Amino acid sequence: MDLFGQMMYAPLQLSSLLEQAARHSGAVEIVSRRVEGDIHRYTYRDCHVRAMKLANALTGRGIVAGDRVGTLAWNGYRHIELYYGVTGIGAVCHTINPRLFPEQIAYIVNHARDRVVCFDASFLALVEQIAPHCPHVEAWVMLSDAAGLPQASALPLESYEALIAGQPAHFDWPRLDEQLAAVLCYTSGTTGNPKGVLYSHRSLCLMAYASSLPDALCLRASDTVVPVVPMFHVNAWGLPFSAPLVGAKLVLPGPALDGASLSALFEQEAVTLSAGVPTVWLGLVDHMRRTGKRAGTLQRVIVGGAACPPQLATALGELGITAVHAWGMTELSPVGTVFAPTQGFARKTAQERAQIEAKQGRVVPGVEMKIVGADGAELPWDGRSAGDLLVRGHWVVERYYGMNETCLSPDGWFATGDVATIDADGYMQITDRSKDVIKSGGEWISSIELEGIAVAHPEVELAACIACAHPKWDERPLLVVVRRAGSTLDARQLLSFYEGKVAKWWIPDDVVFVPELPLTATGKLHKLVLRQQFGRHYSDTGTAA
Ligand code: ADP
Repeated sequence: MDLFGQMMYAPLQLSSLLEQAARHSGAVEIVSRRVEGDIHRYTYRDCHVRAMKLANALTGRGIVAGDRVGTLAWNGYRHIELYYGVTGIGAVCHTINPRLFPEQIAYIVNHARDRVVCFDASFLALVEQIAPHCPHVEAWVMLSDAAGLPQASALPLESYEALIAGQPAHFDWPRLDEQLAAVLCYTSGTTGNPKGVLYSHRSLCLMAYASSLPDALCLRASDTVVPVVPMFHVNAWGLPFSAPLVGAKLVLPGPALDGASLSALFEQEAVTLSAGVPTVWLGLVDHMRRTGKRAGTLQRVIVGGAACPPQLATALGELGITAVHAWGMTELSPVGTVFAPTQGFARKTAQERAQIEAKQGRVVPGVEMKIVGADGAELPWDGRSAGDLLVRGHWVVERYYGMNETCLSPDGWFATGDVATIDADGYMQITDRSKDVIKSGGEWISSIELEGIAVAHPEVELAACIACAHPKWDERPLLVVVRRAGSTLDARQLLSFYEGKVAKWWIPDDVVFVPELPLTATGKLHKLVLRQQFGRHYSDTGTAA
């Protein structure tokens, strides 16, 4: 007969994270740079009270468990209140990426059937544009006080402050089934319509716990954390949940994500840890170099969302900041792997250590991973064999929102769409998105590695490497490059820079110089657009060798 443990059961639910912060780290601050331009500061205790007022307001409006409340907002204290106030009553906080095209935003607001949408003043024009196409939205709430509302608008707008004003400062968070939906986030949909991933209280709580571990993001009560990664992009990598969990001070940068603004905020708030995509750190490094600034209190930055070019990690290191490489995706809410040293790491040479740090890291406990070949057979963890990366675990999607079928393989794994190697110590390295890999004469060439070399050239600002159709080799790599201002670098000079760095047949056959590169709504290179533009370069220009 089964014998069950005889321990208390408390469902994993998000409200308990904020409740705990209010109780045990009540005086710790949440500091926000507001859309209005000023700095707002209050404590976890204040945040909890306002989340409870919001819960009362929403309940009073008839928002019930399972309803979706959309947000179009930067990282700020009101957005945190929405994260907790909405999910605490069992409703779903649907974070919307304002960088998507308006038609895509309208599509996902309708697909999610958001009943209320809360938005920052910066997105007023966007809201006015999409509202006529979103008939199910009952209220458009601007995250401001009543005085901040526009004088005239075609929409019956409400202010957030008016919504919560006068509400009771206490709310008994209901005990929820931990499997209930809490947050909804759509993938950026670079191909086809965006797909929704519906996180549960359980999945988000477990990720908050596991991602705080020393060998993951290593979050501590003594940390001051800035999620530069937006709260509309996969929960700002879970930091709005993990920071309250450990009682860390939270600093929210609002819309000002350039190097100068971030550097000033880091200095002013004595920030120790931050997280964002490589382009953010390139901006910070550039600013710090120009102004002669050093790291100050900032010890670590988590770099993810796209591969961290090795010279970025070096540049940060020279400024006294450790770059910690991490990998994840919307379907994993998002943290999958993070760099941490293993036994014996300290005894390796500096070069070996740098090579390992450039990889995407080791899996966070709670997620499992493997790589498979074209036939589905598992590949060895030898650091060389590259195959499709599959994952499963507590915070991995099972099906997309509104879909009847699972998105898992029959044996329960999720195919990430990434191609990777895994070495004997379990360090995973992404070599490509499966759709970006360059298949030359039946062999695979990593576009990420070729881009990493190009941007290491001092005269290259940005580089993308794409597969071009080729009559003899099926596909050959082509570099599309933005030169630094004033540079006259030519194709031959750049290609000779590859010699000795990769196998000869990996070296791209040509370079196209462009004034700028197209980016997706999540700030990544939009290779689909580049392939449409330059995918026939070798046949069109006759450069095919
Ligand atoms: P999108 O909506 O653009 O797919 P995601 O954040 O879900 O946004 O993107 C996830 C993808 O981003 C991953 O599957 C991977 O291809 C890429 N990615 C994330 N982190 C890294 C990293 N550290 N190195 C390389 N690629 C990364």
